[in-house]
Amino acid sequence: MKKLFAALALSAATMLSAPALASPNVVVSIKPIHSLVASIMKGIAEPGLVLKGAGSPHTYQLKPADAELLQNADIVFWVGPELERFLEKPIESLPKNARVVELEDTPGLLKLPLREGGAFEAHDHGEEDHDHAGEAHDHSADDHAEGDHATHSHEEHDAHIWLNTSNAKVLASAIAAALSEADPANAPRYKANLDALDGNLDALSAEIKTTVAPVRDKPIVVFHDAYQYFEKEFGIRVAGSITVSPETLPGAARISEIHDKLGRLAAACVFAEPQFEPRLVNVVIEGTAARTGTLDPEAATLNEGPDLYFALMRGIAGSIRDCLSAR
Ligand SMILES: [Zn+2]
Repeated sequence: MKKLFAALALSAATMLSAPALASPNVVVSIKPIHSLVASIMKGIAEPGLVLKGAGSPHTYQLKPADAELLQNADIVFWVGPELERFLEKPIESLPKNARVVELEDTPGLLKLPLREGGAFEAHDHGEEDHDHAGEAHDHSADDHAEGDHATHSHEEHDAHIWLNTSNAKVLASAIAAALSEADPANAPRYKANLDALDGNLDALSAEIKTTVAPVRDKPIVVFHDAYQYFEKEFGIRVAGSITVSPETLPGAARISEIHDKLGRLAAACVFAEPQFEPRLVNVVIEGTAARTGTLDPEAATLNEGPDLYFALMRGIAGSIRDCLSAR
C-alpha cells in the first residue's frame, strides 16, 4: 500500500520523465558503494544514498529521513554490520518484501583479516626485501597477538572492501545481478553498464599502478586502518595506523609507539582524513621529519555519483605519490 500511495503522490511531470517500466527503489549505505550502484543504474534511475555529506560510517547516527528512505526501499545495498553498524537495527526492521544485499558476503571477494596494533609490529619488515604483490605476503591476524584489540566481535575482516579495483568488479557484478533479478525488464541495460564499468575499472587499475610506481614500498602511516585492499593491489606500504577504527581513539601508548616507529623508519608521510580531528596527526609527527597529507577513503569530500569511485581511488593514489615524492 505504501508504494501505491507514493506512486499516486508523484507529480505528472515526474511520471512523464520516468522510464516506461518502473525500476525498483534502490537505497545504498555509503558513497563508494553508491557510486558503483549508480554506474550500474545509469540511464535507468538514480539510487538513494543514506550516508551523505562528510560523515564516516564508523561514527554515523541514523537520522529520521534516513529511516524513511530505508522503509521505502525495494533493494538495500550495504557492506555489512562490521562497517555500517548504524544500519544494523534499521535493516532488521525493514518490511519483509525489501531485499537486502550484504556486499561483504559476496562470493569471490578478496577479504583480509583486520590488523591490530598501531604499528603492525609483527609485520615490521625492516630492511628486508619483500614482494607486496605475492599472495604469500598475507597479513594474517594470528600474527598480532599483541596490541589493542579491535571491538569487532565476529569474523574480524577489514570491511573497506571497495578500495581495490578487483573487488569493485566483483561488487559491481553482484550489484548488477541483484538489480537484474529484481528488475528483469532492464537486465540488458544493467549488463551493458556492468561491462562498461568493468572496462573502466581495469583502466583505473593500470593508471593508478603508473601513478604510484615511483613511490612503491616507501612507508606511510595512515589515520585509520582502511587501506589494506589498496595496499595489496598497488604495492603501497602502510607501516602503521593511528587508530584501527575511528570509533576508538588511540591511547598514549599507541601514539608514542607510532611516533617512535616514524623515527626509526625515517618515514615519510602521515595521512590525516578529512572527517577526523587532525590534532592527533600533529602529535604523532612532532619532532620527526615526516610530512603530512590527507587521504579520503570513505569519500567524505567527494560528490556522490558514478564518477565518485574513480575520483576516490585517484585521490588516494595522487595524495600518496605527492607526499612521498616531495621528499
Ligand atoms: Zn573506515
